[in-house]
Amino acid sequence: MRTPFIAGNWKMNLDGAECAAFCAGLRDVAAEAEGVRLGVFPPFVYLGAVVEALAGTDVVVGAQTARPEASGAFTGEVAMRQVKDVGATHVILGHSERRHVFGETDADVRARLDVALELGLDVILCVGETLEERHTGRTEQVVTRQFEQALSNIDDAAVAERITVAYEPVWAIGTGETATPEQAQDVHAQLRALADRHFGGDVSSRLVIQYGGSVKPDNVATLLACPDVDGALVGGASLKLESFETLARLGVGGAA
Ligand code: PEP
Repeated sequence: MRTPFIAGNWKMNLDGAECAAFCAGLRDVAAEAEGVRLGVFPPFVYLGAVVEALAGTDVVVGAQTARPEASGAFTGEVAMRQVKDVGATHVILGHSERRHVFGETDADVRARLDVALELGLDVILCVGETLEERHTGRTEQVVTRQFEQALSNIDDAAVAERITVAYEPVWAIGTGETATPEQAQDVHAQLRALADRHFGGDVSSRLVIQYGGSVKPDNVATLLACPDVDGALVGGASLKLESFETLARLGVGGAA
């Protein structure tokens, strides 16, 4: 039985007062939210404050990325160890903006994932194809490569319990163009089959696979009705409490 997981990736949005107001409202939403897991991923500068503001709730708080090195000359960057130190429990790895804007490779994602798990941070691992890759029939090949490079030989229990995979087609992120439920289900089923092949049926049946890419209150229900879609990683529609609350409400019962 998988619990649906609705996570808000705030990217480089919201200021301190907006984060505080969101968290105050989210405490009430979380108190009512049964049967769904909620998470928020604020900008680094507000991470500690958001952890504190949501203390005592079940809302997961995490970073949008982090570096694997423990310390050093990486001006402007934040270490995984520091994310853990402020009380965050999760980190998003391999987001398409990290891959395509900041040039992170599959090897970078793997190095970060190894350190995250070692330090006790849980991971949302993003995979997804560009429009060109989809148009040239390479979707399965791309997500398979991203999945395998990140997760090959990772401990079974960690994959089942500490990793969430987010299928995020790059062409759907922030564009308003959402994958159809059929397109999403197709790739989610491929990812679950891949998990089955590498880690066996027990792990693959427990692995939570989110869809991400222009998820909104008016399309989340049909996406979550797909048998292998277990939640959503949401950018734009996670920035307003009302819309996040609606996603949380509609997320209940959205996983097998
Ligand atoms: C994201 O950033 O992970 C995302 C899915 O963004 P949006 O919902 O805005 O497409």
